[in-house]
Amino acid sequence: MPNSNVNPYDIVLEQLDGAVRRLRLDENIHTVLRHPERALVVSVPVIMDDGRVEVFEGYRVQHSSARGPCKGGVRYHPAVTLDEVKALAAWMTWKCAVAGIPYGGAKGGIKCDPKRMSKGEIMRMTRRYTVGILPLLGPEKDIPAPDVNTSAETMGWIMDTFSMFKGYAVPGVVTGKPVNIGGSLGRREATGRGVMYVTNELLKRLERRPEDTTVAVQGFGNVGSVAAAQLAREGYRVVAVSDYSGGVYCEHGLNLESLLRYAQEKGDGHLCDYDGEGEHLTNAELLALDVDLLVPAALEAQIHGGNAQAVRARWIVEGANGPTTPEADRILADKGVIVVPDILANAGGVVVSYFEWVQDLQALFWDEDQVNAQLERIMRRSFAEVWQFAQDRRLPLRDAAYMLAVNRVAEAIRVRGIFP
Ligand code: NAD
Repeated sequence: MPNSNVNPYDIVLEQLDGAVRRLRLDENIHTVLRHPERALVVSVPVIMDDGRVEVFEGYRVQHSSARGPCKGGVRYHPAVTLDEVKALAAWMTWKCAVAGIPYGGAKGGIKCDPKRMSKGEIMRMTRRYTVGILPLLGPEKDIPAPDVNTSAETMGWIMDTFSMFKGYAVPGVVTGKPVNIGGSLGRREATGRGVMYVTNELLKRLERRPEDTTVAVQGFGNVGSVAAAQLAREGYRVVAVSDYSGGVYCEHGLNLESLLRYAQEKGDGHLCDYDGEGEHLTNAELLALDVDLLVPAALEAQIHGGNAQAVRARWIVEGANGPTTPEADRILADKGVIVVPDILANAGGVVVSYFEWVQDLQALFWDEDQVNAQLERIMRRSFAEVWQFAQDRRLPLRDAAYMLAVNRVAEAIRVRGIFP
């Protein structure tokens, strides 16, 4: 579960205020950036399999469209709140700006427990939610993508529902959809692959080799499982992985192929019962492992004031959005831990989403090598820009990434002006 003591939107404001102060940014633009452009709350009635009607609460928040159409995932989770979606939308604005892709930020979510729902119930909920937020959506306006507990299949349902209302197929309204209806090759793996590219760049700067680097990954879903597999393929020693049920540890390196097969067969939330090689451990133990690199790839606020002191990793690459609270950031900085922030580290997903949207608009599709090569180029460029900015000003990478991002968005607002 996310850490319920922390309001993620307060974290967004604290991070934004810090960047604005350091940039000495115009106060009027600061005020604009503190408020999402638009937030829609919808009731989503669903006929459940037993004939009852259940009403779920859904959200879509557009934080900023200053740099382009709003872009961001849709999350299904019992802990989803409007403030969480607002925070995730703002993080998307900064992420697209760091990566230099022409999008603003948005996010959506439904407060529900998909693990207790049938596929038919989830499909009906998705379609009704899509209709609820229909006025906001469109390839030029707002383009959803997968996030926690949503997948390519969910995006296919959103695309189909939107298209039914248009009367023709509109693939560009979502990204992360199945490849046979306009999805991009490489999109499913893109976030985890991006985590790997960024980690490689970090190691180069630190003059370290993957073979000498031990890794623990929290979260074994889309981001965590792919990041773990990609890092292992590059030669890193991935010694621990976990999902919400707990995790597995093996000092000389886990058998990731076996773990991926197991997760594929059993679904999410069964790592605590994995009977292959390795010992079981809790999520708290995983976060405190004596490893070189920790990749939090589950939910926000996992590393907080209460457990940051126990973190023994020397570097953290944030696969998840908002996994480290500002209080934890300060503790980690005092301990000398280098944190590659979420808005840089997990941007691979939205970068390939951008490629998918470009391919849909042009109806011209790329091969996977082309997707991965362009992804690597953008991740390396973004990392280099943030690293150099941080070096020049002796700042932590998060502060540098925020300053770069906020400045780019502020500049777009400045040249466009405040309407009317
Ligand atoms: P997912 O639903 O595929 O996987 C989430 C994983 O986290 C699951 O294995 C789940 O069991 C685990 N988990 C949940 N609560 C946990 C806990 N308390 N402790 C340990 N593990 C826990 O979701 P995902 O798409 O992999 O997203 C993970 C994170 O990455 C989220 O913060 C998301 O916003 C972010 N993200 C996702 C993408 C993407 O392309 N999917 C892109 C950028 C960022």
